[in-house]
Amino acid sequence: MTELVFVSERVAYLPGTNNLGVIVAEGRTAIAVDTGIDKEAARLLRRACEAAGLRLCAVFSTHHHADHVGGNDYLVRNIDGIEVYAPRREAAFIEDPYLEPMYLSSGARPLGVLHNKFVMATPSPVHHRVEPGALTIAGVELQVVPIPGHSLAQVAVVIDDVCFAADGFFGQRVLNKYGVPYAHDVAAQYASFDVLMQLSVAQWIPGHGEAVDRVGLASTMDANRAAVMHSRDLVLAAIATPQTLPATVAAVQNVLAMPSASVAQYAVFASGIAAYLNWLVADGAAVAELSDAGLVWRAV
Ligand SMILES: [Zn+2]
Repeated sequence: MTELVFVSERVAYLPGTNNLGVIVAEGRTAIAVDTGIDKEAARLLRRACEAAGLRLCAVFSTHHHADHVGGNDYLVRNIDGIEVYAPRREAAFIEDPYLEPMYLSSGARPLGVLHNKFVMATPSPVHHRVEPGALTIAGVELQVVPIPGHSLAQVAVVIDDVCFAADGFFGQRVLNKYGVPYAHDVAAQYASFDVLMQLSVAQWIPGHGEAVDRVGLASTMDANRAAVMHSRDLVLAAIATPQTLPATVAAVQNVLAMPSASVAQYAVFASGIAAYLNWLVADGAAVAELSDAGLVWRAV
């Protein structure tokens, strides 16, 4: 069984594909920071807490993506009195996960193949909608730090000298795997890199990748910035002549030699490319216009 890794007296995480945070609170209770993709991930988290003599009393969800909230339902069903906290603008998606495959489908009723745990978590109640700033749960004061961009209203959680950075940045291996780091709003994502770097903490634990100290963070952030700028260049090159979103997606995937392995993966990738296209328009580097081919983007 994977055990909790303690990084300070009251801050730990369960390492894995998704690093899940654990904050020790009053009376040997604990707060989970994200719960993984499904009930199996949540069960492992619960067992790891119990093995450390801790009983989960709260879940803090950093953002609504299915691989971060998919275990909430299991914990809510199986632990009496446990309460879920989430940023206000993320909460609706956690309570109604159908919204994720729906927005990945341009608002349409999603294809059946998008009804899966990778893009549609099991629903979970959100008992507390949280705002940025100080937040006390079970006698522990946390700082809720807005790091929007990867998701609409994603937040990081700071406790003592540790930052649970959610998907505010990715480890190098994750960057290599996906080519284009997913964002809803690339400009906001890029600005949030600086927010994370400016925190007065000693360790940053991302949702995916290795925990890093300040030195490690600097090089990891360089890699994240490089991945964003490389993706921007790929998209700009793809729209040297006017292109639709699907044509831009295909062009970028061809250059990266990274075809999607599933419709869900394609839908997420295409949503990320749409974020780049709209970022370029907002930046004045591209225009979007209607044509006989539909909505097309063109570098200017
Ligand atoms: Zn995410």
